[in-house]
Amino acid sequence: MAETQIEWTDATWNPVAGCNILTAGCSNCYAMDMARRLEAMGVAKYAGLTRKSGNRTVWTGVVREDPGALAIPRRWRKPRKIFVNSMSDLFHETVDDAFIEDVWHVMEETPHHHYQILTKRPDRMATIVSQRIGKVLPNVWLGTSIENEDVVERIDELRRVPAVIRFLSFEPLIGPVGQVDLTDIQWAIVGGESGRSARPIQEAWIDEIHDQCVAFETAFFFKQWGTWGKDNKKRSKKANGREYRGKTWDEMPVSAAAYE
Ligand code: SF4
Repeated sequence: MAETQIEWTDATWNPVAGCNILTAGCSNCYAMDMARRLEAMGVAKYAGLTRKSGNRTVWTGVVREDPGALAIPRRWRKPRKIFVNSMSDLFHETVDDAFIEDVWHVMEETPHHHYQILTKRPDRMATIVSQRIGKVLPNVWLGTSIENEDVVERIDELRRVPAVIRFLSFEPLIGPVGQVDLTDIQWAIVGGESGRSARPIQEAWIDEIHDQCVAFETAFFFKQWGTWGKDNKKRSKKANGREYRGKTWDEMPVSAAAYE
């Protein structure tokens, strides 16, 4: 686990590491670069997960389950919001069904935490959660990432997942998403892209999502504008800021009192 700078969570927990690029939103995947750095620091879990391709780091496609990490959330007595698998996708096609079930057992046995699971593979999430897991855990939030209108069908796949809280991460938002159905979607996060090759977000795209969140009564969280712009090699997230329409938007699908 690691403390994290991700604005909408308290900690990250990585029972799986490694992935491969799926759609346009993955191009500048933060986890690829982080995995390379962790391998360079000698962290065995990340060895062989990435390789150099020209001046870029790319995934090799090796995906590693880490059974030793399963015990970690049980040691945290204070309730936290835990982002599961910031360094992978739990529903990557090579992760064993049985291992995903092990992750579910940990979440069930630690109901004082809220778990946030985000996938770009909601079809597999829907199949496993409904057919193999077969139960809804109130402390587990299930979500999918939408980077532009090319992948909005993920929202319908997410709706098939049995869950108390379903959420969408529109990050990195690299194009408009158009009109979408947010029925039974409790939370939406919007954010721009970070990193040296960050692609700029446009305010009109955010407006489109925000207005639909209001119409569907979906909680809206604006994470940040991203690090694109002038001299973005040195640009911090703070440089572009977190304000949208003159304020910060930190709405959550459950009350903050749940974490006290
Ligand atoms: S699915 Fe997530 S972890 Fe995997 S490559 Fe895409 S952005 Fe990175």
